[in-house]
Amino acid sequence: MKRAILVLALAAGAVPFVTAQSEKLDFATLGRIRDEGLARSQVMDHVSWLSDVYGPRLTGSPAMLQASDWAMKKFAEWGLVNVHRERWAFGKGWSLVRFSAHLVEPQVQPLIAFPHEWSSGTKGPITAEVTRAQIATEADFARYRGKLAGKIVLTQPARAVRMLEGPIILRMGEREIAEAETTPVPAPGAGGRGNQAAFRQKLDEFYAAEGVVAVFDRGGNSDMAAGGSDMAWQQQHPDGGTIFPAGSGARDANAGKAVPEITLAVEHYNRMVRVLDKGLPVKVELNVETKFYDEGQPNGFNTIADIPGSDLASEVVILGAHFDSHPYATGATDNATGSAAMMEAARILRTVGAKPRRTIRVALWGGEEQGLLGSRAYVREHFADVDTMVLKPDHAKLAAYFNSDNGTGKVRGIWLQGNMAARPIFEAWMAPLHDLGVATIGPRSVSQTDHVSFDNVGLPAFQVLVDRLEYNSRTHHSNMDTFDRVQRDDMVQQATVVAVFAYNAAMRDEKLPRKALPSPPPRGRGTAQ
Ligand SMILES: [Zn+2]
Repeated sequence: MKRAILVLALAAGAVPFVTAQSEKLDFATLGRIRDEGLARSQVMDHVSWLSDVYGPRLTGSPAMLQASDWAMKKFAEWGLVNVHRERWAFGKGWSLVRFSAHLVEPQVQPLIAFPHEWSSGTKGPITAEVTRAQIATEADFARYRGKLAGKIVLTQPARAVRMLEGPIILRMGEREIAEAETTPVPAPGAGGRGNQAAFRQKLDEFYAAEGVVAVFDRGGNSDMAAGGSDMAWQQQHPDGGTIFPAGSGARDANAGKAVPEITLAVEHYNRMVRVLDKGLPVKVELNVETKFYDEGQPNGFNTIADIPGSDLASEVVILGAHFDSHPYATGATDNATGSAAMMEAARILRTVGAKPRRTIRVALWGGEEQGLLGSRAYVREHFADVDTMVLKPDHAKLAAYFNSDNGTGKVRGIWLQGNMAARPIFEAWMAPLHDLGVATIGPRSVSQTDHVSFDNVGLPAFQVLVDRLEYNSRTHHSNMDTFDRVQRDDMVQQATVVAVFAYNAAMRDEKLPRKALPSPPPRGRGTAQ
């Protein structure tokens, strides 16, 4: 029954492609791209280097620079040109040097935990009593003054952990595809985070002044880390040893001043709370050693390389993905996968001897996780000032920007970003990709990653629509974002499809159509994903 519906849907879906045949596609080259991409893929090798060898690639860490050096070497090997880094201001870099945490009383248990990024250290191993302190406002400071010196503080109450139920793998089926093809009415904007940040700063100062040696948390209050959706498969499960450390220490002049902050697996955290509630002591042996790096070395940078164009070489198609990751694992699905797909697309195009009319540029961004910093800096430097909407000459030269940042899944289509004029073009491009499962246009604007930096200044920018697989349930910003969660067949397809999109965009007579130019200041500037 399901199969019959699918066949009917494909037959119905075929009709609009007839009208879209004005797109001239170079099927001979597309055939070679598909053959090289599918039959001789190197994408998993790229993912392994980026995750196993250079992961995690935290912006401002030595590993990020090493990963960039490696990518530049590969670009040069494949014959890309203009291979370079572009720097922008970031603040202090950081890396973890050593970490261990053991419960030592009432019994010994190695703890599943990870320091927040940009956390300070403990200045050697310490053994300290654990205590609870629930501080929600400045009025609570008085209750704990003088009571926390030399202690490790549990900052939250215990959280109930439910059994896991429902699917945790998101392979898009009919229901999910149908949902992606709709345009939900956007929720009214939220605001007022400023006060929270100010209190956070005062709380950090209070802990430091009171002589607290470390603070422990167990992540968000929900037993599903990503709220706001009624679909279970869109949720993350901070349990089962998977943690999603969410906080970050300062990387400005306050860097290293707050006490060490560590996120624990909820099951280990809850155990401590229950023992303390019995009036028994809890002791932990803890060692956190971290390192900060001055801005003098390249902390914030993007890694750039070009496949030169021919008759339209001054126009550019950009393949972008954020290269940086959080430090809790190896940044495999976020976003070694997107970076590897873009790199592999470039390798495929060079290997088959594609001669694009426009320049195809690969841009591997830094600082995405801290707020799309790399792509924002690049757009400001080359295309437009988002605050004034004063355009630079190259603004007219960008044919299209394609981004990948939702994990390891195969490409099922493209998010249109509300760019209705691009729809028939993508439909024509996807028609010969139906056999690879590429058939869906999501009309809505998606946010929270680097294409938003381009979209905000009126450039035609798109995020590929991929199967999320375990991205939402396990790997996104967790301590389990490792190579083993990356699916080879999906990645091989993703890189091949990106190469096809890049080539089509570089070959068509016109640049991709644009939406109306936003007026300053633009709305929905997005945050890091
Ligand atoms: Zn991310």
